[in-house]
Amino acid sequence: MKCPNCSQENKSSTRLCKKCGRDLTLPPVWFPDWRWHLRALSWIFLALIGFFFTASHFLHRLPAPYDQRDIPKEMTPWLNPNKIVAP
Ligand SMILES: [Zn+2]
Repeated sequence: MKCPNCSQENKSSTRLCKKCGRDLTLPPVWFPDWRWHLRALSWIFLALIGFFFTASHFLHRLPAPYDQRDIPKEMTPWLNPNKIVAP
């Protein structure tokens, strides 16, 4: 069998590579390829999108003023200085 570390051809009965001494009874080390990265990043991205919509759904159900998107006019008088806000 071929050594996964140094590609040295060894007898199938041997347990250690005769060139580098790697234990051949261990399974070869797995490294994630680009497909694995793409799939993992897609799942993370979808989870973040789902979390965003879930959080915004529950935030919009909160009572006022936490569900307001517009800032009240009386809080921004510099935006309309000539208008007097009725009390
Ligand atoms: Zn080897």
